Amino acid sequence: MCRAIMKKTKTDTTPAETPHDILTRFMTEKKMRKTPERYAILDVVMQMKGHHSADEVWGMMPESFHVSRGTIYSTLALLVECGLLYNHQLENAMLYERAYRVPAHHHYICTGCGKIWDLQDDSIEQVASKVRTPKFKKMRCNTYIYGVCNICQAKLARLKKKMAKAQQTTMTREERRFAKIDEELSKAAEWFK
Ligand SMILES: [Zn+2]
Ligand SMILES: [Zn+2]
Repeated sequence: MCRAIMKKTKTDTTPAETPHDILTRFMTEKKMRKTPERYAILDVVMQMKGHHSADEVWGMMPESFHVSRGTIYSTLALLVECGLLYNHQLENAMLYERAYRVPAHHHYICTGCGKIWDLQDDSIEQVASKVRTPKFKKMRCNTYIYGVCNICQAKLARLKKKMAKAQQTTMTREERRFAKIDEELSKAAEWFK
């Protein structure tokens, strides 16, 4: 399954500006209150590696600093708006990643465990540039390739073996979920070689 999403986000950050400068300028323009909480969240997300949910960001906050979940959510949205973070609306979660000095890129995601990897491949842009979009000016292309990682593939193989042996009728919730993934995987094999 391959999903291409065209979406508008501001990614241009002047190199001379620090993340603090960018946030300050943005909040001044929007006449927002420059609270220490917002800057503390900014400091945390600028240090983080990879892709994280709002709850994970909440867990990364220093213990001495008490911020509500609501403040985390609203500040993350603010940081996406001013181009300091990328957000990824996936099937089960919204994930955030640092955008400051990180070029836009594609991703592949395991539907079994939810792990997400960065993908740098210019051929995706080349295909997107050839795709005809009448009366529509293309800006950028975000691709998410869904599949199954090698750990989950092994898990799936073990599950199939177990099912064949036991011919069981009752499956656990996770087994049912993996059986569904296996079904989708066999359908995808027909057109994803
Ligand atoms: Zn996996
Ligand atoms: Zn990424």
